[in-house]
Amino acid sequence: MDTVTDATAGSVDRHDTTQTFESTNPATGAVVGVFPVHDADAVRETVERARPAAERWAALGFDGRRQRLAAYRGYLARRMNELADLVHKENGKPHGDAILEITLAIDHLAWAGAHARKTLGPRRVKAGMLAANHAAYLEYQPLGVVGVIGPWNYPVFTPMGSIGYALAAGNAVVFKPSEYTPAIGAWLAAAWRAAVPDSVDAFQVVTGYGETGAALCRAGVGKLAFTGSGATGRKVMATCAETLTPVLMELGGKDAMIVDDDADVVAAADAAVWGAMSNAGQTCTGIERVYATSAVYDRFVAEVTAQVRTLRPGSDDEATYGPMTMPSQTGIVRRHVEAAATSGGRVVRGDADQSLFPNENYLVPAVLLDVPEESAAIREETFGPTLTITKVRDAEEALERANATSYGLAGSVFTKSKARGLDLARRMRSGMTSINSVITFASVPALPFGGVGDSGFGRIHGEDGLREFTRAKAITRQRVALPVNLTSFNRPASAMDSVARLMGMLHGRHR
Ligand code: NAD
Repeated sequence: MDTVTDATAGSVDRHDTTQTFESTNPATGAVVGVFPVHDADAVRETVERARPAAERWAALGFDGRRQRLAAYRGYLARRMNELADLVHKENGKPHGDAILEITLAIDHLAWAGAHARKTLGPRRVKAGMLAANHAAYLEYQPLGVVGVIGPWNYPVFTPMGSIGYALAAGNAVVFKPSEYTPAIGAWLAAAWRAAVPDSVDAFQVVTGYGETGAALCRAGVGKLAFTGSGATGRKVMATCAETLTPVLMELGGKDAMIVDDDADVVAAADAAVWGAMSNAGQTCTGIERVYATSAVYDRFVAEVTAQVRTLRPGSDDEATYGPMTMPSQTGIVRRHVEAAATSGGRVVRGDADQSLFPNENYLVPAVLLDVPEESAAIREETFGPTLTITKVRDAEEALERANATSYGLAGSVFTKSKARGLDLARRMRSGMTSINSVITFASVPALPFGGVGDSGFGRIHGEDGLREFTRAKAITRQRVALPVNLTSFNRPASAMDSVARLMGMLHGRHR
């Protein structure tokens, strides 16, 4: 099960297609690979090939799928460095960060495979009083073929959160990676073909731009799992509405950290800097805003700015983060920083010299202090190596401001009080919150991952993530016939009088 396949150029093309596109290394501009632009016919063909594969894959049952998912994760674990090199080349992030995201993806694959039967398998449920002569069964059945459209910022971890859980639930998957990271998508599919040779069509990749994604929405998939920006998410939903295709939406965020009076300020600063600046700030659940109470604000700002000064973007082994993956994003980040400065905020930049970088894709970190709440840097997703820090009276004001955006993906709370931390976390308007750390929820496979509001809906990961790629199936079986059958035209009129009396006795006393 270990044959090495050509994991990049050409490996996804089984169609006659003339159009191609290049993916490039954001650090150097060098071409990483050339990929087909799959048109609507090619996408439909791929989905049609996935349909019988989905039936065979579902028929393998939980154990058969678990075994094959284990072979896949084994393959990924043995070739982690090869995949991390490719992620470094195509996305730009440091090799170590690529290893971290692959590690998380492998752990989730293991969990999904191990927990699918318990979460989704057939079970008996209590039939209840009204159907006491029946047995009742519940099971979660696969949807068939699931379409997955992914972003470029975590090109392994993010799509695998849908792909791995959809496969474990018994679906086949057709994946369209971002046009910025097609080589990684193609590598993941080639790895599947090598590791699971008896089910190659259960996981396939199509490549291209937005039109290829739209074609996947229209190809008759059982569900479309989308991860990307809110603007594109709206288009995807509109396209899926044409065929009543259900959607899962993992969208952007504007995550906040609350630093309370009793917080470990050094640890909070360390977490904020990593949460904001790692992956050049291109993390959907990255920290973009901090609200620090007046009791800790000065110490926190001093600690953050000292730490930020040590950061150095680059592409070498010692770089703390890489270039921006998508060149157009640099304009948005610069606009947010400049607007923060002109609106009265203070900007503290890292020590790295912008003029020494080989191209415009490298951004020096920027800490934006006491920026007005209506600024773009506070309200819109910046998706770059920036962090706003705002002084607030207390944690209540921090929570109020943290919650005052249309987004609601994740967040973080720093306090030594367990009760206070849990209370603030519960009331934070987000799908996920880490107390005294950042982004930890992503590394707990049992926890669901997803947002509220403009951050989307639906969940990947955990039991909810498995169920997301299924439909609930309800079955009853009559065990014994009763002398009186209420769902028959033959029931005596007196039967419903007796039922009404019984209901009055059982429930009538509740006011
Ligand atoms: P994007 O919305 O530009 O693109 C995402 C994907 O959609 C790409 O594969 C793209 O080709 C495809 N696409 C574009 N137009 C389409 C259309 N009309 N129909 C179908 N598909 C189409 O997002 P991006 O720039 O790749 O990713 C960054 C965004 O993703 C950020 O907003 C980030 O916060 C978000 N994100 C969210 C999560 C999460 O789990 N919530 C995770 C990672 C990234």
